[in-house]
Amino acid sequence: MTQSAVVQYALEPMAVELRAIAVPEIGEADVLLRVGAVSVCGSDVHQAYNTHSWPVNLPVVLGHEFSGTVARTGKSVTGFHEGDRVVSETAAEVCGACMLCRTGRYNLCPQRKGFGYGINGAMASYVKVPARCLHAIPDTLPFELACLAEPHCVAYNSMCVNSTIRPGDTVVVLGPGPIGLLCARMAALAGADPLIVVGLTADAPRLETARLLGATHVVNAQRENVDEIVRGLSPLGADLVCDASGASRPLDVALALARPDGQVTKVGWSPDLVPINLNPLVQKNLRLQGSFSHNFPIWERVIHLLDRRLTRPEAIVGLTSPLEGWREAFAAMHEGRVIKSVLVP
Ligand SMILES: [Zn+2]
Ligand SMILES: [Zn+2]
Repeated sequence: MTQSAVVQYALEPMAVELRAIAVPEIGEADVLLRVGAVSVCGSDVHQAYNTHSWPVNLPVVLGHEFSGTVARTGKSVTGFHEGDRVVSETAAEVCGACMLCRTGRYNLCPQRKGFGYGINGAMASYVKVPARCLHAIPDTLPFELACLAEPHCVAYNSMCVNSTIRPGDTVVVLGPGPIGLLCARMAALAGADPLIVVGLTADAPRLETARLLGATHVVNAQRENVDEIVRGLSPLGADLVCDASGASRPLDVALALARPDGQVTKVGWSPDLVPINLNPLVQKNLRLQGSFSHNFPIWERVIHLLDRRLTRPEAIVGLTSPLEGWREAFAAMHEGRVIKSVLVP
């Protein structure tokens, strides 16, 4: 049996096409998932345009943000049955034996391979998923919103686990891409106020969305002085600066905007190596934190937040299309016409 899938086949810009591939065979501990919806991640777009900073196992089916229905279960699978509605975590392979795996931080396992770059992903009718990756979702949560759980989990980990936010904290988010906007939303839910989202002129529509998601102030860094605005609200600087820009350079700005004894959390990354003034890190006694991926308890909380629509997930979806429309779905995100595209295979 074959199916169509969005396949990246080379490390060149737009070496991606819709291909007929076999429906995967599953192992004893896997389920075969009928994909309900798969959202396009900034990382899928980076891979398609060959601007990513991680190794890719070619050829590979793209897509790691997905929801669906269990179509078949392997022999040893318990707890999930045919017809169950689920979302899947992204750590398709982990060693299961290292200290990080054994303490529930398997997202940081050095052997980790994720869907969509290391293992075939979900931009297809069916995807093979280890049952340990699954979370049940309520009937009240449609697939088109449930697939957004993964980027929500990235934002939750960044703002609510790896950072500390108290109500009334001044929080700055650099970069209003999908992750930056969701980080802003999580900060708003955690009580950040003022909450300042910083972008560029081309980000104008995204900055408007930031307001819908709870930003008290939005700043165009090409026309306004970010430092003045932040210090006008909080003279010592921000309690927390989240760098979700997806570039390396803005770490400089983040370190400068943080108050003494404040925090900087970096969640966006790029292949660029740039010189940065690290002295404020020491001089201001800052806590610099990276944030990567997510784990089980984060997913359970995010599914609840999504089901209650507390994160206003509809605000970030600008395009929904069948799998055949993948090219426009990617281009619309690449060109900044929509924040997030969702494919319904
Ligand atoms: Zn993603
Ligand atoms: Zn491990």
